[in-house]
Amino acid sequence: MNPLIINFTYVVSAVLFIFGLKMLSSPATARQGNLLSSLGMLIAIIVTMLNAGLDYKWIFLGIVIGSGLGAIVALRVKMTAMPEMVALFNGFGGISSLLLAWAEYHQNRELSVFIALVAFLSAFIGGMTFSGSMIAFGKLSGKVTQKAVVFKGQHVINAAFLVLALLAAAVFCVTPASDFGYVVFVLILLVALGFGITSTIPIGGADMPVVISLLNSYSGLAACAAGFVISNNILIVAGALVGASGIILTNIMCKAMNRSLANVLFSGFGSTIAQEAGAGPQGEVRTASAEDVYYILEAADSVTFVPGYGLAVAQAQHAVKELGDLLEANDTEVSYAIHPVAGRMPGHMNVLLAEANVPYDQLVEMDEINPRMESVDVCVVIGANDVVNPAALDDESSPIYGMPIIETHRAKTVIVLKRSMNPGFAGIQNALFFAENARMYFGDAKASIQALVTEFKND
Ligand code: NDP
Repeated sequence: MNPLIINFTYVVSAVLFIFGLKMLSSPATARQGNLLSSLGMLIAIIVTMLNAGLDYKWIFLGIVIGSGLGAIVALRVKMTAMPEMVALFNGFGGISSLLLAWAEYHQNRELSVFIALVAFLSAFIGGMTFSGSMIAFGKLSGKVTQKAVVFKGQHVINAAFLVLALLAAAVFCVTPASDFGYVVFVLILLVALGFGITSTIPIGGADMPVVISLLNSYSGLAACAAGFVISNNILIVAGALVGASGIILTNIMCKAMNRSLANVLFSGFGSTIAQEAGAGPQGEVRTASAEDVYYILEAADSVTFVPGYGLAVAQAQHAVKELGDLLEANDTEVSYAIHPVAGRMPGHMNVLLAEANVPYDQLVEMDEINPRMESVDVCVVIGANDVVNPAALDDESSPIYGMPIIETHRAKTVIVLKRSMNPGFAGIQNALFFAENARMYFGDAKASIQALVTEFKND
């Protein structure tokens, strides 16, 4: 095929990727964005395959098996297990780059220094992405311990792996054609796999979504390097886009938790023992029954729901939407305030609320709701804890100090739906639960909201 046509089609694909990514930034356009990017990838794959000299029977077999497995897994995966699936995808992306670099090198060992360098990058980053992603998958799915596995000398081992990899890379780039060069390349693969494991195990299970976002970025960089190895422009572009978007998302998540990436990667957050029950803020807890909450909501002019991880656990999104509709029918202004790291994965709350068909114009971001919080009659906190903990604002000793929160404590009334006084992800108590304007409505979030719906319907 004419290289001009191929490259022109690759440019079309790249443009589709970029527009698709842009559309992912709003829940209203995310689905179309996903489709647009997929179309870009389909075009790129078809053109690459038509581009001469390929053994189609093997490729066809791979496509059938891969697409079949992918479709089954995607259809069966639970929304809350999405980060695990993304971890697997990243891992497979990483191992593909590793295998591609290895296969190219195996076929032709006469590599220029530049190609040897990108082959090293593709294999090393791909390998560590694969093993790191498998650990991330294991932690999230509970197959390996979710705790941060921290031991003495861990940083030294990681540093040793890195130094070894760099030395091996230098040797490999100078003598790729020799048998010794081949042995060094295999050593690089082993070091990469080891490094992926040792650099991921010290990270606690609940921090895994941040790590997965970072691994996603790595898988893009590995693919980008693989693109240079086989001189494929669209692989270079797609890899660079994944690499850049992954690192941007990682940065957004770290900022929203007020933690540095180094803190997420090296602090062993999650190996520490949660604050004991009874420690932290104390005071009188004012409880409320379904009937009490119903009267408060019924009299409110404005209600803002603040969902958190507990909404996902209880799968309460449909019940919340039903309650929201009943409130609107009662002339109450309804909104949903979403914290960027509420739940356990980026966009977790947006996905759940979109599933329940909550209108996008009712979703408000933290920066939008906080300045007008005093005018909100009732904030209903549904299974959120850390993202509404005022300690982030005023307790310098708190592990979440400095994290931006949804300041529900400044609303006229706050109703908190959760099952107990247990802490959330950060393992710390929440002074909000003892605030004068707060009422604790204990129970499973879905059952609690359904009880409110019944109260409204019986009215
Ligand atoms: P939290 O983990 O702070 O709190 C969740 C609360 O939900 C718990 O206190 C729990 O209380 C309650 N809960 C659990 N199950 C139910 C249920 N069935 N019904 C009612 N309540 C329930 O969640 P947040 O969303 O407030 O905060 C997210 C945390 O996760 C932050 O610390 C964030 O930094 C972290 N994180 C988020 C990531 C992301 O991408 N979103 C990634 C990594 C970390 P009880 O047991 O008493 O019911």
